[in-house]
Amino acid sequence: MTHYPMIIGGDRVTTGSEDVINPATGKVFATVALGTAADVDRAVTAAKAAQSEWGALSYGERSLALMKFADALEAHTEELANLESLNAGKTTKLTFNSDIPVSVDNVRYFASVVRRQEGIAGSEYLGGYTSFLRREPIGVVGAITPWNYPMMMAVWKIAPALAAGNAVVLKPAPNTPLTTIRFAEIALEAGLPAGLINIVTGSVEVGEAICSHPDIGMISFTGSTRTGKRIAELASPMIKRVTLELGGKAPFLVFADADIEAAAHGALIGAYTNSGQDCTAATRIYVQDEVYDAFLERFTELSKQVVVGDPFDAGTDIGPLSSQTQLNKVKGYVEEAKQQGVEVITCSEVPSEGFFFPPTILVDPPQDAPCVCDEIFGPVPTVKRFSTEEEAIQLANDTPYGLAASVWTLNVQCAMRVSAALQFGTIWVNDHLPLVSELPHGGFKQSGVGKDLSHYALEEYTIVKHVMIDITGDQRKDWHFVTFGKEGE
Ligand code: NAD
Repeated sequence: MTHYPMIIGGDRVTTGSEDVINPATGKVFATVALGTAADVDRAVTAAKAAQSEWGALSYGERSLALMKFADALEAHTEELANLESLNAGKTTKLTFNSDIPVSVDNVRYFASVVRRQEGIAGSEYLGGYTSFLRREPIGVVGAITPWNYPMMMAVWKIAPALAAGNAVVLKPAPNTPLTTIRFAEIALEAGLPAGLINIVTGSVEVGEAICSHPDIGMISFTGSTRTGKRIAELASPMIKRVTLELGGKAPFLVFADADIEAAAHGALIGAYTNSGQDCTAATRIYVQDEVYDAFLERFTELSKQVVVGDPFDAGTDIGPLSSQTQLNKVKGYVEEAKQQGVEVITCSEVPSEGFFFPPTILVDPPQDAPCVCDEIFGPVPTVKRFSTEEEAIQLANDTPYGLAASVWTLNVQCAMRVSAALQFGTIWVNDHLPLVSELPHGGFKQSGVGKDLSHYALEEYTIVKHVMIDITGDQRKDWHFVTFGKEGE
């Protein structure tokens, strides 16, 4: 059985051992090192040493090194896609066509956009002084990632952090660390300096050690809102910068004039991609009265065609949930809804082994039911009615989350009004899910602070410095009288 090490200062550190389970079988297929706070400390020391040289490189030099890394990652696409499917239960359809190529594109994007980075041009904002701005790296960035998109979430943090001149100490989720470890090994093979990317595997002890380490200047976290609150708490005594990409409960609003066939297909992709374990998943579907029955009928019909099974089978649409814990949680929400009298439509058969759960539609639960309010993180959308545009907006915004939402209408004025009124970081019109390297992703409200992707993310990993230069050479400036002597002396 393969043992996956931590990567600290370029070394493969094999101490400790934890089982890694294949969610499609429920069986152990690998082991991974188990880190401690002492490993975090060693990783930070290595990161500091690597960062001082890396941060001093020109943008062009850093960019070239990251471009070579992206090429090396791309050359490992097959290995990484298979490993992600094995470890996280994602279908190979998804890992080969999305997770891995999108991650490679993210690295290329940040490798190129850093060359466009600039401070504002120097000018005399105050007479006698020329000012300009520099964007400095923060130093060592601590990153903590979730299990639903293990490699992609690691890349969303590591790529902008490195492009901006930082080094990283990252902790992946305990059950899905393997592609992140391979990512760091490939970085070394591609020539990135030892110590630039450090991966410390483990659980809460490692995460909390990262958040409270005095030499880590920023915490970049993706995970649940509950953990995000704890991370902000741990980071606050040292006033560390934090970016938090947290939970979501995306509304999906279908207006009476929508293309119902397109909306039904969009709901299918929005609700079931990655077995619904997606922070932007379409989990709360609201449909206008006039088309409610037609939409529900077509959405149910399509949901019944979703093939749940072996992630490595090309005919499979969705694989298992990522862990037994997640399966229990999802089952719990559906059971609770049943007990509350909610109509439950179970849409397909699932294999008996492994952590599989079928697409399941919860019909018209009360707006305050846990299945409508909480992140279920499984293929379990709710479908409810609305009558007016005003009501649709009110229902959609009625959540502490604010990550993503979609609007389905062929009326351009309605699309513009509703997308302006929705309190979410990404709004799609007539689609749900796509994101691109060039544009930002991040939450409103309790879905987080800060942005992933785009030049906005690059800015998160830099600190702005104002440099103000006297251009008069005067020993006593004309304004010094405010503290010493008289005006005009
Ligand atoms: P989680 O919060 O349970 O864990 C995330 C990471 O934090 C893991 O590595 C975990 O080990 C670590 N962690 C747990 N407790 C910690 C602590 N006290 N201190 C430091 N680290 C700690 O989240 P999860 O269940 O792994 O992932 C699913 C969640 O992630 C969902 O809420 C989902 O919406 C969210 N998510 C958000 C985005 C986004 O872009 N906003 C993207 C993907 C996932």
